[in-house]
Amino acid sequence: MRILVTGGAGFIGSHFVRTLLAPGGGGPHVTVLDALTYAGNRANLRTVEDDPRFSFVHGDIRDRPLVDSLLAAHDAVVHFAAESHVDRSIEGGTEFATTNVVGTQVLLESAVRHRIARFVHVSTDEVYGSIPEGSWTEDEPLAPNSPYSASKAGSDLLALAHHRTHGLDVSVTRCSNNYGPHQHPEKVIPLFTTRLLAGERVPLYGDGLNVRDWLHVDDHCRALRLVLEGGRPGQVYNIGGGTELSNKELTERLIAACGADRDRVEHVTDRKGHDRRYSVDWTKIRTELGYTPRHSFEDGLAETVAWYRDHPDWWAPTAPTAAPGGAAR
Ligand code: NAD
Repeated sequence: MRILVTGGAGFIGSHFVRTLLAPGGGGPHVTVLDALTYAGNRANLRTVEDDPRFSFVHGDIRDRPLVDSLLAAHDAVVHFAAESHVDRSIEGGTEFATTNVVGTQVLLESAVRHRIARFVHVSTDEVYGSIPEGSWTEDEPLAPNSPYSASKAGSDLLALAHHRTHGLDVSVTRCSNNYGPHQHPEKVIPLFTTRLLAGERVPLYGDGLNVRDWLHVDDHCRALRLVLEGGRPGQVYNIGGGTELSNKELTERLIAACGADRDRVEHVTDRKGHDRRYSVDWTKIRTELGYTPRHSFEDGLAETVAWYRDHPDWWAPTAPTAAPGGAAR
């Protein structure tokens, strides 16, 4: 099987590729298509670079001729490429609309043309909006609030439309907040970790009571592999089962994991339109595909903090210098 992985130089996509090509992992051939935006990093793929089953294409998912030429030679697509940071989408959403919506449309059309056998579209729980209590099932109507989540909702619906209209064998996944190594230091866990390790202050948005469900990136990628191999066409799969924490609680855990002082927290003005709580019901993927998360948050967070402590060469060149981001994905 030849799999095209878009956005494979980013945080989650690169983990997925490293897992697919792990020794003993079987025989798929993997091509990464990545534009290497500020969020893409070839170093994330260093361990697989010399694998004969791997190739890298530096290019944009909005480039129709390029996408067409690639899809002519692949059987499956796992689509991660996106502009992914909510704060950046609030500053300016154009790249979000063009990459996330138009780029996905280019891929879907080309997938139909080339009769791609399997397409997994990696969406997000943020497309559902915000939920004060309880959890969303896959039948919940989409009600996104940020330009990021609205653009992801657009691409998510386009993927499903290509199943209904053209019969494309596409499944959509909607996952909760990921954490783990190789996440860009603009996102809350690496941002706070790298600042706390450097003895700096961390910016906590608003009252700090916004709640997120934290899932290890490895659990997300295992769920994606299950969906790739066994998910039903035209179906949506929520992926969750991490640890629900308010941003204040998360910050306290990071302070403890980094051995920092509690006075490092700086309360900053809340993010515009900040979703209060996300929570997915992941019964469907558990019962249908046998998914359960394996990483405990306690161990996963300790390992993640240790990874950032040991890899300043990876994150220091891209770490934000000011403090634009608060505690949210
Ligand atoms: P990321 O920002 O780390 O990586 C995105 C990758 O896409 C980068 O390598 C970037 O260079 C590439 N890219 C961006 N625009 C492109 C374009 N026009 N053409 C080709 N490549 C392009 O993001 P991530 O956190 O790894 O997220 C990956 C996917 O998972 C996204 O679709 C995101 O919406 C989704 N998701 C993320 C989370 C999370 O917690 N991070 C949770 C659920 C879903």
